[in-house]
Amino acid sequence: MLREVAWLSDQHQLAFICGPTPFVETAAASLVTLGYEPTRIKTERFGPATCTGCGATDAIGALAVYMHGMGTVIRCPSCEIVLIRVAQTKGRYFLDMQGVRVLQISMET
Ligand SMILES: [Zn+2]
Repeated sequence: MLREVAWLSDQHQLAFICGPTPFVETAAASLVTLGYEPTRIKTERFGPATCTGCGATDAIGALAVYMHGMGTVIRCPSCEIVLIRVAQTKGRYFLDMQGVRVLQISMET
C-alpha cells in the first residue's frame, strides 16, 4: 500500500510517522524497503494513555475511536468515559484530553 501512496524515494523526501510503536516501526521499515534513507524518516511514538476514570492504561491504538461530523471521540475501552476529543472548526483543531491522566510520547529521529 505504501508503494502506491508514498513519494518516490529518489526525490529524497522527508517522511514523518506518528502513532503507536508497532505502526511506526512497520511504516518506517516499509519506507526503507521502498528506498527511503533512514535518516530522512522522522518518528514520534504514542505510548499508552492512562484513563482518569478507572486508571486503565491502554495503547492509543487499542482505544475505542468514534468519528462523526463534529470530530473524533476516543473512549476508554474499560469504563467508556471520554478520554480525548478532537474537533475541527474554522481551520483549527481543538484537542480536549481531560479524560487522560498520562499520555506517553517518545520522540525519536
Ligand atoms: Zn477508564
